[in-house]
This record gives sequence, C-alpha cells and structure tokens, in this order.
Amino acid sequence: GIFLTGVSKRFGDVVAVDALDLSLRGGESLVVLGPSGSGKSTLLRIIAGLETPDAGEIRIGGVLQNGLPPHRRDVAIVFQHFALYPHLSALDNITLGLRHGLRLGRQEAARRAAEVAERLAITELLHRLPRQMSGGQRQRVALARALARQAGVVLLDEPLSGLDAQLRLTLRAEIAGVLRGTGATTVHVTHDQNDAMAMADRIAVIREGRLEQLGSPDDLYRQPDSLFVAGFIGSPP
Ligand code: ATP
Ligand code: MG
Repeated sequence: GIFLTGVSKRFGDVVAVDALDLSLRGGESLVVLGPSGSGKSTLLRIIAGLETPDAGEIRIGGVLQNGLPPHRRDVAIVFQHFALYPHLSALDNITLGLRHGLRLGRQEAARRAAEVAERLAITELLHRLPRQMSGGQRQRVALARALARQAGVVLLDEPLSGLDAQLRLTLRAEIAGVLRGTGATTVHVTHDQNDAMAMADRIAVIREGRLEQLGSPDDLYRQPDSLFVAGFIGSPP
C-alpha cells in the first residue's frame, strides 16, 4: 500500500499540499477529486518523487521513499498533459525509461513495449512520432509507457481529459481493465464524477491541499459531509 503522513508542500506563499495523511491498501484504487489548484498534481508528483515535500513521510509497501529518485520508486505516472517526447517514436517513448531508468536491455524493453501496445491497441502506431497521432492515440501511448514499467503503484493525472465523450468511455473501461489485471495500487486524479464513480474503491475530495472527505463512492454520494463535497459528487453532472 501507500502511506502518507503529514505531507506538506508549499510554493512561495501557496500551500499546495497541507499536512496530508492518506493510507491506501495494496491493490486499492483511489480517485482524487478537487478544484483546479487544490494540489492534486502536486500530490502525485510527490508520490512519484518528482517533487520534494517540505515535511512528511511517504511509504510504499513499508519502505520509506523520501530521498529516493523517481526511477528507484516502484511507481509509474501518467502525466496530466501526456508529456511524450516529441522527437521520439511511440516505441522509443515507451522504452526510454525502461532502458535508462529500470536498466532493462533493449530486447526486454521492446518485448514489454510490444506486450502493452497490444493490450492498448497501439501496435500499429509504435513507429510514429507523437505529432503524427491523434490526442486519444497519444493518450494511449502515455498510458502504455506507464504500464510498461509494471510498477506496483500507478498514478494517473487526468488521463482522459481533452478526449471526446465516446473515447472517454472506451478508454475508461480499458484503463480499468488493464489496471485490474495488474493488481496495482492506483491514485487517479479526475474532474469527472462519472470516471470517479466507475473507477474508485474510495474517493478523496481535496480542497486547498487538505483532505475534505474520504470514503467509498457510495458514502460520498449519499452522505457528503459538506456542500463542497456534494458539489463534486452528489449533484448530477
Ligand atoms: P488542476 O486541476 O488545475 O490541474 P491541481 O489540483 O493539480 O490543479 P496543482 O498543480 O497541484 O493543482 O497546484 C497546486 C497549487 O500549487 C496551485 O496554486 C499552483 O499554482 C501551485 N504550484 C504547483 N506547482 C508549482 C510550481 N512548480 N511553482 C509554483 N507554484 C506551483
Ligand atoms: Mg493538476
């Protein structure tokens, strides 16, 4: 599982994450809901090791992560804005971190890429550059890159944003299926109530870097603690 205790991060005067405590059991899928600027991406980046917290501890499977660089953590992240390297093919985008971060050989990296590409139906796209792909195709490549790490923790930052409704539905089901198959512990940031209801074991609503409410989708839907939570999960979209 993932255990955060007293995790804080400020940028100048802005407190992005404020003394946050959070525990996820292994294999659990947590959805994080919150308004723009509430600290969702910062939280994921801290777990991934891309941002250093000012205070607090991050443990994964009992092992303290503070001070470990991203590639030494059992964590994969799908970024809010894909973050594919524009000059690299889909295949190279997927294998780069496997080769240089995980230090896999060329063949093993290619084998993992082929496997995950097949699951996400992007085999035909592996030799294209990001600009030669649609937004949804790029999103699949970004997802493939994360899943190819075979990490115990998968962090997804709005992986479906900017896609049309039909593609959202399709990809939501595919992501849920692939993740369930891996047994990974996942933290998934979304603005979309339907994504949250469909994918979460529990939902965390955050506000100004603090936990406003944590519970099952059903709990939050039926018994929101505040109008703020109801605004995210209780009212019809
Ligand atoms: P969104 O839904 O818009 O993606 P978010 O919940 O992901 O928002 P964060 O990106 O975590 O929000 O940002 C939280 C706060 O921290 C915001 O006020 C943001 O401006 C600030 N912030 C985040 N990263 C930095 C940074 N590198 N430098 C300065 N301020 C930052
Ligand atoms: Mg964000």
